[in-house]
Amino acid sequence: MLNWAPDELRRHGYAAVDALVEHCARMRDEPIRNIEPLDQLEAAFGQPPPEEGRPFEEVLGETTTRLLPNTMHVNHPRFFGFVPGPSNPTGAIAEMLASGFNVFAGTWMGGGAATVVERALLRWLASEIGLPDQAGGVMVSGGSHANLTALIVARETHPVGRNAEATVYFSDQTHSASERALRVLGFRPEQLRKLPSDSLGRIDLASLQGAIGCDAAPFCVIVNAGTTSTGAVDDLPAIAGLCRERGLWLHADAAFGGAAVLSSRGKLALRGLEECDSVALDPHKWLFQPFDIGCVLLREEHLLADVFRIIPAYMNDVYRLNSEINFCDRGLELTRPFRALKLWMSLQHFGVAAFRAAIERGFQLAELAESRLRRNPAWQILTPAQMGVVTFRWHGDEALQKRLVDGMMASGYALLTSTIVSGRTALRLCPINPRTTDEEMNETIARLESLALQE
Ligand SMILES: *Cc1c(COP(=O)(O)O)cnc(C)c1O
Repeated sequence: MLNWAPDELRRHGYAAVDALVEHCARMRDEPIRNIEPLDQLEAAFGQPPPEEGRPFEEVLGETTTRLLPNTMHVNHPRFFGFVPGPSNPTGAIAEMLASGFNVFAGTWMGGGAATVVERALLRWLASEIGLPDQAGGVMVSGGSHANLTALIVARETHPVGRNAEATVYFSDQTHSASERALRVLGFRPEQLRKLPSDSLGRIDLASLQGAIGCDAAPFCVIVNAGTTSTGAVDDLPAIAGLCRERGLWLHADAAFGGAAVLSSRGKLALRGLEECDSVALDPHKWLFQPFDIGCVLLREEHLLADVFRIIPAYMNDVYRLNSEINFCDRGLELTRPFRALKLWMSLQHFGVAAFRAAIERGFQLAELAESRLRRNPAWQILTPAQMGVVTFRWHGDEALQKRLVDGMMASGYALLTSTIVSGRTALRLCPINPRTTDEEMNETIARLESLALQE
């Protein structure tokens, strides 16, 4: 029951791959987002499932011709909004295999080689960052889960973490994922110090120092290693020094920027990341993997198991076999997918050098955008290219900037989003897809200019 004969699996599998190949081949010439109105999609896809099934060809056809096209293509070469998901095809095939084998990566007993691959990749990422040999981590669903996991470990293992007055410091540019994690952990608003940032988006050091000096139980600083809004990197070496001196836990949210340590420019920009106690990373952003894969690294790998390990009776057999690489000991998930396979297969196939070059390309594209914008004085650069992000605005009011976002989205040619920089609405480009061409970047800006001039 619920199965296919081998030749059916082959036929249907090939048909699905054919549909994927077509989508990939056509994507560049298609709109980035062309989604039908909600009521139409509700009528087509919002009904309860049928009691009796129907031919797979029909289901696949509906999926590939209507359902999937009604989603936004975040791996499109002209998707510059939010943080793109410039995934790679090797990763997609790896996902199919990992779920086809239904690998249980929660334990050594279940995962075997999968746990070895995951641990090796985590240690490799830690060493690229420059963390010490005893560092390690766990792969999770994304940056939100990674930040939560790190903050749980911090609270449980730092001497001040459980103090009712324990205070946490971060900037007004810190991603909402950290604030949400702190809320879930039971931190009250009085325990949080949201500090101002400078014009580039970096935390104001004097305010940080002052706030720490005033509090009875300073506990943790969350630094940004690439903010989502402007790509800003907090002054990691100075803050690491401060945390060491005062005995605070230092956590870095490097969900967006962390992977950039693989490139020479990123390595330079992220100097000091190696001094953190914990780091959250998102390989499904700037490490080109399909959703989802996030990861959290701890300076002291063993802290994860110290905090999370509980051995119930029905798991005794698992721990008789091995008590060291059971990833269920390192976080909230027991049953967990083999997320590391896509990263492993794509690194093995393309090689690390190709990833370094692909990341470097993101830096270049943001710089290209900046220099193109500077050629027209009607544009004002709000923050220059940093970590693959540039923010800017057309002379005019707030509403105009938003109309440019909407106009570009409606055109389907490219997609960018807005943010707020120093209190003003800013347009924002995050061109980290290595398949974007120089021409496409220039054309995107030219089209923004014509939209602005039509106003
Ligand atoms: C994307 C992002 C997150 C959240 O990560 P998810 O993978 O979306 O859960 C957290 N912090 C930063 C800086 C991010 O860019």
